[in-house]
Amino acid sequence: MITVKPKIEYDCDVLIAGAGPAGSGLAFHLASRGASVIVVEAEKFPRDKVCGDGVSPVALAELHRMGITDTKKFKKANEVNKVGLFINDQKVFINLTKPESLPFHARIIPRLKLDTWVYEAAKKAGAIYLESTRVIGYVTSSNAALIQLKNGEKEIQLRAKVLVGADGSNSTVARQLRGGKPSEEFQLLGLRAYFEDVNGPDDRVDIYFSEESFPGIFWLFPKGSGGANIGIAMVSQTLPDKPSHVKELLLNHINKNSDIAERIGTGKTDGKIRGWPITFFNPASSITDHRLLLAGEAAGLINPLSGDGIQYALLSARWASETLGTCLQEDDFSNAALHSYRQKVNSELGYDFALSNLLVQFPRNKTFSKAWMTILSVIISRAKKDPGYAATIAGIFEGTYPSYNALTLPFIIKSLEEGGIEAGHVLQDHLNDPSLMIEGSMAALHDLFKIAEDLYTDPILHGKWAIHTATKTLSVAGYLVGSLLQRNNH
Ligand SMILES: Cc1cc2nc3c(=O)[nH]c(=O)nc-3n(C[C@H](O)[C@H](O)[C@H](O)COP(=O)(O)OP(=O)(O)OC[C@H]3O[C@@H](n4cnc5c(N)ncnc54)[C@H](O)[C@@H]3O)c2cc1C
Repeated sequence: MITVKPKIEYDCDVLIAGAGPAGSGLAFHLASRGASVIVVEAEKFPRDKVCGDGVSPVALAELHRMGITDTKKFKKANEVNKVGLFINDQKVFINLTKPESLPFHARIIPRLKLDTWVYEAAKKAGAIYLESTRVIGYVTSSNAALIQLKNGEKEIQLRAKVLVGADGSNSTVARQLRGGKPSEEFQLLGLRAYFEDVNGPDDRVDIYFSEESFPGIFWLFPKGSGGANIGIAMVSQTLPDKPSHVKELLLNHINKNSDIAERIGTGKTDGKIRGWPITFFNPASSITDHRLLLAGEAAGLINPLSGDGIQYALLSARWASETLGTCLQEDDFSNAALHSYRQKVNSELGYDFALSNLLVQFPRNKTFSKAWMTILSVIISRAKKDPGYAATIAGIFEGTYPSYNALTLPFIIKSLEEGGIEAGHVLQDHLNDPSLMIEGSMAALHDLFKIAEDLYTDPILHGKWAIHTATKTLSVAGYLVGSLLQRNNH
């Protein structure tokens, strides 16, 4: 029997919500393959996006594939190849490290420019943009995705073969797919301000840790000619009560920290401190469904350890275009057909994100902040004298190496050795001067009592923390077992 499929009129093959690096990146790849693509963007280009503006070597390699890096204006974007890490009175400066295949620098590119360049490339490849228009909802049927749009007061409905949610950390599409907004458990809040006339060097990004903001980090990323992006990212659950307090935290840090003060010198800000949520990967959440796929930050593709997301937005755009290319050829947009995208995300990023989530989970418990600051001091102290070790640390912060590089045996042994050396010095000092021993013991006892008191006064909070930590540990273990099984099967 011959079955005749009814002829359906589609407005496009793929409708993409959001024109950040994920949306415009995907539009570029699909339009270059000949697909008809409509990108719906809530704002009008050129549009800004709150970000640290750090474009990692991995992201630069993706932009290069898209032919965006060869222009004069791109080459003018500030290059950085050093990382400064600061904690209390410790500091270390590390040269950029990267696998052979990647460019030997990162760049600091204000998103006002970067996103416009990707948008222009996608338009040139043939993608159509509807700007100042929001996706407000969708319905999928057996043969189409019907997408509701709003432009001013006007509501429109478009029909596509598949809908992609690339609409960022507050994704409307992800919220409808998952039945609610992202849990705070998987969110950071970022704030940034632009400064002018700061001190150099223009080729070094600086990252600062301090106990009061821990597990948050501060940064100064130079954008060239004395300009800098200065900001903070904090785990949402550990935030001070009101958003204005976070702004104060950023300003206080800038005012009180002598290292950042020295770097800013007589530099001035325009006073606009802007904040934005950062949503990271929840392995339990779907990123595909029938005629539906999420890319970039809408899918939670952010490394919570470094806050890096641009490289994952661009990578997921390319991976999604490969899967969707096959779906278009075979006219199959079922969840099963889209599964190869989910598999790619899992195999390339799953373990790294699970481990980063776990590493961020530990310091969420403020009771242990002091212990974590000590561990970071030990790491920085080792990095000062061991370039190979320093390279691993810098690579993890730059997103050029996955965080599981910190779990290799040599790395762990070096960290323990360094901890031992520090502990050895402290012990020697104590043996030479027993009064220090008494002071030290009193301080240690005080810290222990503080931890015990915190655990006693808020057992529910600590219980929740323990459960979340156990879940994340299991998730890491799951990836480890999975990769061992895969290795054995080959
Ligand atoms: C303070 C801060 C600092 C950061 N620093 C860095 C850094 O230095 N390096 C790095 O790699 N990453 C950084 N990130 C993360 C990075 O900004 C994101 O990972 C990246 O922007 C994700 O790209 P995307 O295309 O997925 O989403 P976005 O860039 O957020 O783009 C989403 C787009 O969708 C549009 N949109 C939203 N809702 C709708 C809707 N309903 N309909 C239509 N359009 C919609 C938005 O207007 C936007 O243009 C930082 C984030 C923050 C908040």
